[in-house]
Amino acid sequence: MVVELQPDLVADAQNQLGEGPVWDARTDTLFWLDVLAGVVHRYAPADGSRTTEISVGQEVGALVPRRSGGHVLAVREGFAALDEQGTVSMMVEVEAADPANRMNDGKCDRAGRFWASTMAFDASPGRGSLYRLAPDGDVSQVLTGLTIGNGLAWSADDRTLFFIDTMSGGVDAFDFDLAAGTLDNRRRAVEIPEAEGLPDGMCIDAEGALWVALYGGGAVRRYSPDGELLAVVPLPVPNPTCCTFGGPELRELYITTAWAGMSDVERAESPQAGGLFRVRTQVAGVLPYEFVG
Ligand code: CA
Repeated sequence: MVVELQPDLVADAQNQLGEGPVWDARTDTLFWLDVLAGVVHRYAPADGSRTTEISVGQEVGALVPRRSGGHVLAVREGFAALDEQGTVSMMVEVEAADPANRMNDGKCDRAGRFWASTMAFDASPGRGSLYRLAPDGDVSQVLTGLTIGNGLAWSADDRTLFFIDTMSGGVDAFDFDLAAGTLDNRRRAVEIPEAEGLPDGMCIDAEGALWVALYGGGAVRRYSPDGELLAVVPLPVPNPTCCTFGGPELRELYITTAWAGMSDVERAESPQAGGLFRVRTQVAGVLPYEFVG
C-alpha cells in the first residue's frame, strides 16, 4: 500500500527556484537556496516562521556543512566558502570560463568530499559534468555528458551512490568505493515515466528508501532502492525541487519548490509555488555529511 502524507507550508518564500535544503544540526537550522536569485535562506523552527537571507552574489546550486565551521557552496563559478558571518569567498573555480554553465545540486560523501554537478543555464543536453572536490581542494571531473545533474544519496554502507540526471527520467545507482571516491557499474534503480514528473532532488532515509522530488509532478515520492513506490507527499504546487530530513529525531521532511517556468495564470492557481513545505514522517532521515577541508 502506498502511504500518503500531507505537508504544510512552512515559509511562503516565493522562490523562483528554491533548492538545496540542508538541516544544520549544530544550530537546529534549515538552510536552503534560491538558485537563480543567488540567495541562501535560513529558517530556525524555534524562532517560529522567521527566516533570514544571505546574498551570495551569483547563482548558487548547493550548500553543505563544513566541519571547520560555516558551509561550502556550489556556485555558478565553482566551489565557494560561506562563513558563519555570511561572507562568501571562492575556493576553486569549475567551468568558470563558460558563461553558459553553472553549478547545480551537490552533496558530501562520508569521507567529506563534496560532489556537485554542472549544467547549462538552458539545460542543453550533455553539457554538464559531475565533479568531486577533495578535502585538499583538488577538483576532479568524474562524469561527463550530463544534462541536469541533480539528486545524490549514498546507501548506509557507502557501497552504492544513487544519482539523478533529471532528463534521463529516473534514479541511477553506481557501485561506490568510499576509500577511493570512485564510481562504477552504472544502472537504473528507479524508473519514473515523464508524465509523472521529472526527478530532481533526492534524499535517503534510515531504512534506505529514496525520497525524490518530482518537478512538474507536484509530489515527492518515496521509493525502495529497487524502485518500488512506497509513499507519496502530494503538494499544492507543481514544482517540488528537493527534500531533506530535519527537526526532532530527523522525522520532518523539508521540501523546496519553484515558480520558475510557470505562467501568471499558473502562479495564480498555485500561489504557494516557491514556498518551503514540511511533512512529518514515521521513518527518520539521516544527516548530511560535512565537507572536511
Ligand atoms: Ca535540482
